[in-house]
Order: sequence, then C-alpha cells, then structure tokens
Amino acid sequence: MSIPSLAGAAINAPATYPVWLRTSVTLRASRLQRLRLLVQAGFFALFILAPVFDILRYDLARGHAYILGFEWHLGIDDYFAKRISAREVGWNIFLRLFLPVFASSILLVTVSWRWGRIFCGWACPHFAVVEMLNTLVRRATGKLSLWDKRLLPGQSPTRRYWLPTVLMAVGVAFLWAVAILTYAVAPAEVYGKLVSLSLTRNQSLFIVIVTTVLALEFIFARHLFCRYGCSVGLFQSLAWMMNRSALVIGFARERAAACTTCYAPGGPGDAVCETACPMRLRPRVPKRQMFSCTQCGLCIDACRTVQNQPLLGWVADEAAHTNEARIALMERVF
Ligand code: SF4
Ligand code: SF4
Repeated sequence: MSIPSLAGAAINAPATYPVWLRTSVTLRASRLQRLRLLVQAGFFALFILAPVFDILRYDLARGHAYILGFEWHLGIDDYFAKRISAREVGWNIFLRLFLPVFASSILLVTVSWRWGRIFCGWACPHFAVVEMLNTLVRRATGKLSLWDKRLLPGQSPTRRYWLPTVLMAVGVAFLWAVAILTYAVAPAEVYGKLVSLSLTRNQSLFIVIVTTVLALEFIFARHLFCRYGCSVGLFQSLAWMMNRSALVIGFARERAAACTTCYAPGGPGDAVCETACPMRLRPRVPKRQMFSCTQCGLCIDACRTVQNQPLLGWVADEAAHTNEARIALMERVF
C-alpha cells in the first residue's frame, strides 16, 4: 500500500462549526466507518450473547466449558474418580486447553504483526464503549477527557449531557457485569433470576461491584485502560512494533504546510486528526509514539473533512518505512 495520491491535493475552505461536530457528523457518513461500526456492533453482540448460545462459556456448576455448542471436558473429574489415567488427563489438558489458547494467541500476534491493533479498533467491545462515551463526554465537558486542562477550540461544557453520559456508562457497565457473570453461571439461571429479582447474594454482589468498577473506569479512565491496562492490547502493540513493514498511519510530509488549514482563523482551530482520535494520539507522530493506535481510521476520515485529499492514509511494506509520520508542525513539538 502507498499514498502517492496524497501529493498535491487541493485544500478545502476551512469550516466554521465546532470541530467535534464537523468530525462526528462527517465521519458517520464515511463508508469505512459505517463498516467498522457494523463489525463493532457484531462483536459487541457476540460478547453479550456467546454464553447464551453456548458459543463460549464455562459452567461452574457442571464443571466444564461449552465451545461452539459442544461440551468441552478436560476430564479432571474423571481423573479424580479414577475413570481415566494421569496420562489421559494430561493429554486432554494439552489438547483441549493449552493448544487452543496457544493457537488463539499465535493468531492474534500474527494479525497484529501485520495490521497492528486492528482487533481493538474493529472488534473490541471495550473500545466500542470508549468511542460511545467519548462523544458524550466531549459534549458534557467540552474536552476530550475529564483530565484535560483545556477546552476544545470553540467548545464549552454542556451540563445537560452529564445525565446521558452517566446513564450510558452505568447502563453498559451493568450489561457487561451481567454478561460476564453468564460466562461462569448458566445464562438461563442468571437472566431468569434477574427478571424475577431473585439473584443469590453473591450474584448480586458480583453485579454491583463489577458495574461500579466498570462505570468508573468508563467515565474516568477508559483511555488509560486501553493504553496501559489491557494485556491483549499490549501484546498486539508489541508485535506491531517489531514489524517495520506493518500497516501504519502515514503522513504526506511533502504537503505538511497544508496542515495550516486546521489552525487557520475561522477553521477548526486544532488538528482535527488529533481531536478525532479515540485513543487521544497525534496521528502525525512517528510510529513508536503511536504505540496504542487501534487502526480505526478516524484520523484519515477526519483529515478528509478539511482536505480534498487527506494528508493521512494507511501505508504498509516499503511505504511504511518512508511515509511513516515524523514531523514537527505548527504549535506542537513532536
Ligand atoms: S491514530 Fe488514527 S487510526 Fe490510530 S487510533 Fe488514532 S484515529 Fe485511530
Ligand atoms: S493531517 Fe491533521 S492537522 Fe494536517 S490537515 Fe489533516 S487533519 Fe489537519
């Protein structure tokens, strides 16, 4: 992949409405983002429904897992009941536990070696929540995160958005807590007892604690978790970093002067690629500083809102060596 078409593009007149509105409205219309939203929604539904359809869950009461509709026994109970030998149970554990875990890890590392944290940006249910809440928090606080000191250009906090923000965070956290419980307790039991308000004390405690922790994390530390707290993300980033030819956001350095559009009077007042990034990265910096890029492509589409041909684009292989963004621009020193 390369981005030769980025050279010499015309520049749009700067828009005058707030940057978050410009990007969120335009990005929703992007075909790539619609596709990503669809994939994200599919994986989110899978995360919630996998235990319901026995696609993946462990039944604590029965002492075995379900995978793709089949019962998945390691034979540990049979071993203790002296129905199978130590050799047989060891072989079962290797074949039915270590091998699938190892194969899944290899698959994940291979995909991220080539395409980076594409799983995070396109499939991870946590990242989907991060993006949903980003929009609401922006409206409520006028900032990309609660911890930011400065408001976004032309943006002021709108307090009435706090209620939907908190409701969304608590609602999704509750949904997650119930879903996580169904990975260990039979879904029919959990949902049945939830409807009849007859959950056991431990089940209720689990749901309350997990809902509280997740809601706080969603509101206060969602970016922090994606960047530093998620081991799945960390391993993907490490694999990606080891491959210089991997897919990466490239920057048309020869047209860097066109970035003045983003800072021009009457324009967005800030780099829209940066304000659009759900991971709060600066897409024009070198790859090593984009360690947690999720390949969502939002920065590319955001750039398209101010440039007829975006200065940012995915590059790979040889182009990744030469087009990887590395430049100091405008007010930022990279
Ligand atoms: S740098 Fe671009 S592709 Fe990477 S996470 Fe940010 S917006 Fe998405
Ligand atoms: S690369 Fe970023 S700063 Fe430059 S024009 Fe595109 S959106 Fe604006």
